[in-house]
Amino acid sequence: MVRQYEIRKRSLVTGGAGFLGSHLCDRLLADGHEVICVDNFFTGSKANIAHLLDHPHFELIRHDVTFPLFIEVDEIYNLACPASPVHYQHDPVQTTKTSVHGAINMLGLAKRLGVPILQASTSEVYGDPSVHPQTEEYWGNVNPIGIRSCYDEGKRCAETLFFDYHRQHGLGIKVARIFNTYGPRMHPADGRVVSNFIVQALAGKPITIYGDGEQSRSFCYVDDLIDGLVRLMRSPDEVTGPINIGNPNEFTMKELAEKVLEKTGHKSTLTFEPLPSDDPRQRQPNITKARDILGWEPKVELSEGLDATIAYFAKPAG
Ligand code: NAD
Ligand code: UDP
Ligand code: UDP
Repeated sequence: MVRQYEIRKRSLVTGGAGFLGSHLCDRLLADGHEVICVDNFFTGSKANIAHLLDHPHFELIRHDVTFPLFIEVDEIYNLACPASPVHYQHDPVQTTKTSVHGAINMLGLAKRLGVPILQASTSEVYGDPSVHPQTEEYWGNVNPIGIRSCYDEGKRCAETLFFDYHRQHGLGIKVARIFNTYGPRMHPADGRVVSNFIVQALAGKPITIYGDGEQSRSFCYVDDLIDGLVRLMRSPDEVTGPINIGNPNEFTMKELAEKVLEKTGHKSTLTFEPLPSDDPRQRQPNITKARDILGWEPKVELSEGLDATIAYFAKPAG
């Protein structure tokens, strides 16, 4: 009998053991792809992908993207990079190297193979924005020498590299500017506001509000975000982005704290701590492009997404 071989698209996900990367691996496997997850486990964990290790179409490679990588794949999602301020400020030089050298290596890989590559860029390229809500045309307001610069400028340089490989080498690129995303598998100690507030409320500890709590963010649930990334990758060749992917519903940190308290039913108090330097005052994506070009918009309301995230953090680690 002749054995039937299926042709599956091989997707490389760098940073695949992280928060967003592990959800992306889930989604691509569910869509019938073969997935190669590359991660150096700086902030990612085996627990995030433990359920995939026996999957016949999943493969894990422990590797740091600042070093060259020679494998054969059909598309590349480049997510490797610590994303929370606590993590990316831990070793700022390595953060810039990951964004810049990592991008060069993954672009070199994409160029050799002639395959499309998607970059997980960030709303941080807009810095502390003077245009609100932020459109993709806005060039940003970023401090080049501050404590957030290793991340912001690293990601800006990665965008430059993507567009230069596109112009110079005709590479198929897709640049997504991701806005604050939350959901299950967020790192409990990454210092981000959603995970901090939930962990604090569940432990009955005071909720730490930095500054006056009037600064705003727009939070996107992870499933919505992943769907946006996949749609962007599957969009026609001429769609390069950059394209904002995020939820335009904006909340102040005080409003978020009240919502988390209400949902967890805990009587924690609020404590006010100093605002970290260069902390953006407000942030909200304009997602007209994502709506028009990708037919994408977020579906999960903050209230629903918080329920799923609180349930994840409330579950004993196992
Ligand atoms: P995360 O820290 O959970 O995941 C990043 C992953 O990259 C981790 O698994 C980490 O171990 C891995 N990694 C870090 N440096 C590496 C290196 N040199 N080589 C190989 N792997 C490395 O963060 P996340 O929230 O999942 O973010 C994923 C991507 O999305 C990042 O590029 C981040 O900048 C971007 N992003 C995330 C958000 C958000 O709200 N979560 C917002 C904007 C952009
Ligand atoms: N690279 C890689 N895997 C490949 C091809 C290239 O990691 O399959 C790396 C390579 O080591 C180089 C980088 O990607 O450092 C950029 O490659 P490119 O071909 O653009 O530049 P060059 O090799 O000419 O410096
Ligand atoms: N923040 C806060 N309390 C915390 C953690 C964060 O008030 O325990 C604030 C932080 O100063 C920022 C906002 O929440 O204004 C979002 O912070 P996060 O680190 O989640 O994301 P980013 O600043 O990268 O958008």
